[in-house]
Amino acid sequence: MESFPISLDKKDQFIKETEADEEMQLLIKYIQEGWPTTKSQVASTVKQYYNYSKELSIIDGLVFKGNRLVVPKSLRKEMLNLIHFNHLGKEKCKNRAREILFWPLMNKEIDDVVDNCAICNKYRKGNVKETLINREVPDGPWETLGVDIFYYQGFSFLLIIDYFSKYVEVAKLRDMSSCSVISVLKSQFARHGVPYVMYSDPGTQLNSAEMSKFAADWNFTLKTSSTKYSQSNGMVERHIATIKRMFKKLDDDPGKDPNLAMLEYRNTPIGEGLKSPNEIMFGRKIRGILPNNKNFEREKENREIKEKLIDRQLRQKEYYDRNAHNLKPVNINNKVYVKKELNKPMVPARVTKICDRPRSYEVQLPNGNVIERNRRHLHGPVYSDDCNSDSAHDNVNEHTNENVRASSPAKNVNTPTRDVNIPTGASPKVNMRTRSGREIRKPEYLKDYVQ
Ligand SMILES: [Zn+2]
Repeated sequence: MESFPISLDKKDQFIKETEADEEMQLLIKYIQEGWPTTKSQVASTVKQYYNYSKELSIIDGLVFKGNRLVVPKSLRKEMLNLIHFNHLGKEKCKNRAREILFWPLMNKEIDDVVDNCAICNKYRKGNVKETLINREVPDGPWETLGVDIFYYQGFSFLLIIDYFSKYVEVAKLRDMSSCSVISVLKSQFARHGVPYVMYSDPGTQLNSAEMSKFAADWNFTLKTSSTKYSQSNGMVERHIATIKRMFKKLDDDPGKDPNLAMLEYRNTPIGEGLKSPNEIMFGRKIRGILPNNKNFEREKENREIKEKLIDRQLRQKEYYDRNAHNLKPVNINNKVYVKKELNKPMVPARVTKICDRPRSYEVQLPNGNVIERNRRHLHGPVYSDDCNSDSAHDNVNEHTNENVRASSPAKNVNTPTRDVNIPTGASPKVNMRTRSGREIRKPEYLKDYVQ
């Protein structure tokens, strides 16, 4: 194994507790120095590991059985609590734990936790076996969905389930209108894509005229089951029941965030030999509350992406710096052009203050308003106060609805004769003429001007 397979936040804790655990230290000794040829020669405290001896390895002072982290005794209770965080049943809890953790008798201890959980016992469902429906299995995630509305604690929720990954989304509805339902669906489809088919019950908001229009506009097929509680929507009904039960249990278990419970629900493998809804949907492990298995499958791809991102960052910085160093500081009273608003032409202005913030200046517009701008939004200086110009300042149509810092005209506005007459809407040209016809050559420094 080339890299450490669990998330770093739990790593330190596990290392510390493994070091302090005599049994684990003995186990490490056997792994490093070799196991005796017969089980009877093994010290009694670690005998139970003998059968898996070939699968055991050590990484950074921690013991692994294959990809599963061996949990020292002192952390087992904490792990059991996390495994049963959302009060799922025994099989679900074991499936979740088996992906990442190991200790002898772990399965039995999980059974015990669930059997003895007061909250789970309170809401234990009756042994009513439902007939299993063999629905056609879609070819991939988020192709075929089922939706339904359910009520909990006076609120209505929309449940969406993907028939392939069993990935579930639950969203609170603003109200019961088709419009609210469509709004939730749109936001989900924006995240995960538009399905091919969506099943719902007839005669509800879920197959109203608005919904049909939405399906036509977004190009998916809306199918309805023939009657309420019909077989075709059985999977939705089952998941609603599970999630409502989970919510009820969490209400009895204060301090637990239902979002974390949903996260772990989606992180739980859907069956033996099958991955979790999250992993099937997103093709990677999603970090939850238990130590996380690294995404070995995508390591190479992620490394390549990272290299490209770093490369792009360096190129962007190089490009930015190349352009940025051309901007020379401007001085008070310099005449400049300023971009008041994005996508609007520049207007003439005069620098009135060099601000404390780096590269920031206050400039006064011809109407007297003062605004603050970064150096990169100031173009010029066109010329400074000692330049002579005989143009009249009477034709600059300033709009005054910009976000100004001081709106009263300052007393020391430049004498109009020094202003260049630029018709509103015009950008500075290389050569400009004053009203009297005298040509103003573009100063040398403007040759570097990049808009
Ligand atoms: Zn429970």
